[in-house]
Parts: sequence; C-alpha cells; structure tokens
Amino acid sequence: MNKNRIDLRSDTVTLPPQEMRDAMSKAELGDDVYGEDPTVNLLQERCAQLTGKEAALFVPTGTMGNLSSVLAHCQRGDEVILGSRSHIAIWEQGGASAFGGVSLRTIANEADGTLPLEQIALCINDDNVHRTTTKLIALENTYNGQPLTPAYMRMVKEIALQNGLAVHLDGARLFNASRALLASIEEFTAHVDSVQFCFSKGLAAPAGSIICGNHEFIGKARRIRKALGGGMRQAGVLAAACIWALDNMVERLDIDHTLAMQLAQGLSEINGIRVAPAKHRTNMVSFESDRADLTIQELARRLRDIGVLVAVEGQLGIRAVTHFGLTTEDIEEVVLRVEQLMGVPAGL
Ligand SMILES: *Cc1c(COP(=O)(O)O)cnc(C)c1O
Repeated sequence: MNKNRIDLRSDTVTLPPQEMRDAMSKAELGDDVYGEDPTVNLLQERCAQLTGKEAALFVPTGTMGNLSSVLAHCQRGDEVILGSRSHIAIWEQGGASAFGGVSLRTIANEADGTLPLEQIALCINDDNVHRTTTKLIALENTYNGQPLTPAYMRMVKEIALQNGLAVHLDGARLFNASRALLASIEEFTAHVDSVQFCFSKGLAAPAGSIICGNHEFIGKARRIRKALGGGMRQAGVLAAACIWALDNMVERLDIDHTLAMQLAQGLSEINGIRVAPAKHRTNMVSFESDRADLTIQELARRLRDIGVLVAVEGQLGIRAVTHFGLTTEDIEEVVLRVEQLMGVPAGL
C-alpha cells in the first residue's frame, strides 16, 4: 500500500496552519482559573457577542462543553429531551446521566436532523409524581452534516417557552450551518438559552470549544468546568488559535462544502454506490453500497486498503468529511479510487 492516504474520517484531523501557530506563540497569557488570561477573556467576549449572549466560557472540548451545559441546566433526576442519534445521547458515554444523574429522553431524529415538534411536546412531563422533571431540550446543528434552519429552531424554542424549559444547542459545527444557510450565528442562537461550538473541527484549531449563555448559566458552568478538571491555566495559548480561526477560517468553510458537493456528485455516478441525499450540503457525505457483498464495514475496510479513510456511522452508512487541507484534486483522486474499487468484481 504505497498510495498516499486521503483522510476523510473527520474534520478533527485538520492541523493548525503556520499563521495560527504564530498567533499562539505571541498570545498574551495569564492564569485563566483566576480569570486573568487576557486572550481567553477576549475570546469569551467575542463569542458572547457573536452569539448574542451575556457571557461565554472556554472549555477544552465539545464534550465538556455539552456536559457542563446540561449539568448547569439540570439537577439530578431532571430530564433532557434530545435526538436518539445526537452526539450527547450516543457519543459522550451518557456523561449527563453518568456524572449528573440527568435522564436522557430520546426522540428519533428525522433524516434532516430535526425532532418532530409533536413528539417533543408529547415527551414533556407534567408534574405527575411518577415522572421525572423535564428541564431541557437539546438540539444539534449541524446534525450529520444537515443544517437545522433558524425557523425550525424558533418553533422548538416556542414549545420550550410554553413549558418553562431551556434549550441547549450542540453547535459543534454551527459555522457550517451558518455558511450553508447564509444565516448569521445569532439567527440560530437567538432561539436557545445556551450553545456549544467547537474550534477543533473545520476551524482547524488544535483544541477548544466555547459555551455561551446568560451570566447565571455561565457562572454555574464555570464551577462545573472546574469540578470536571477543565480549569486550564495559561489557556490563552489555545484561545489565540481560536481567535485566529474566527478571523480566518470561517468563510473558507465554503470550500469544504464545495468539495463535499464534488464528492457526493462523483460518488453518486459510480455503479453500486448510493449517496444519501442532502437538502443542503455542508462538509459531509453519507454513502453506502447496494451490493450485497459490500456491507458498510466491508466497504470501509476496502476503502482503507486503497488509502481512503472514512468513518463508519452505524446504520447511517459511511461518512466522509471534507476539511481544511484537502483539495479538489484529492476529491478527484478519491472518486477515481472508489470507481476502480467498485469495478473489481466481488471476491477478487
Ligand atoms: C465533535 C462533536 C462534539 C464533541 O466535541 P469534542 O471536542 O470531540 O469533545 C459534540 N457534538 C458534536 C455534534 C460533535 O460533532
């Protein structure tokens, strides 16, 4: 296997560009547990402003951002309503219940990532003594590459308001949604009480996420972050990368989206490959084979053998993610390799 490897597993594999590293090396620093890192403070102010919230808190990972947020909204025995295939439900070890005693009430995600509104309403518990106390609805945007519209999010917020619930947004890739739907970040976050987004994915920072909300929420989340071991000291080294990313990496997400369209188009023309349709294409392509001998696992294995790394997403199929560092030639090469792979009859 001497073909160069093309890594489409995730946009988390992106490496920080030299200018980002330069910004990190020049960052002004202090002890952020004392609230004295000027670069972290600047990042938090900028993100609060960007999302239209009162305050923000820098956290090491999206997982800690989501966990701190759920725990800030909910007490033990409270319940959060969320998608059955959401990151919080299935990719975070059930941390909200493991560490916070919060129960997760899941609703099957539609293919477009939405939760049916009538289902949300049905899952909200009254104060019947047998039931948990519903406190929170959690949405994810983008969901498997699908952007949820601000209009949908507003409808969820209305249900929450009518029932005295809060709404949290796992916006790990919210900038992708913003670019794809030509809507500002605030158009989405206006309809949530708290939001988490990642700098370590398409924005190419080495680490870091932010959570935003009102002063009371951020105050609680800051205590929880410390208890979880997420109080970092001279974290401005990382925050500088995130600030640089906000200034330089957001608009170029359009390139990732164009590459994903190119990939989806190319793959869909190959015999035996079925590409999941997407109303709006961000940086992900889900596909599978309709050939009986090519299960999702088997196809992923053969792709690896030809130097194309992808992620296996259970029944959703294979996920390929475009990101910073890939070129249109890389995507042409991927399509070519898959074409050759599918041309080889089964068993050879
Ligand atoms: C990656 C991701 C997270 C978690 O981020 P980490 O930094 O990997 O902990 C949360 N939600 C979604 C939707 C993600 O894609």
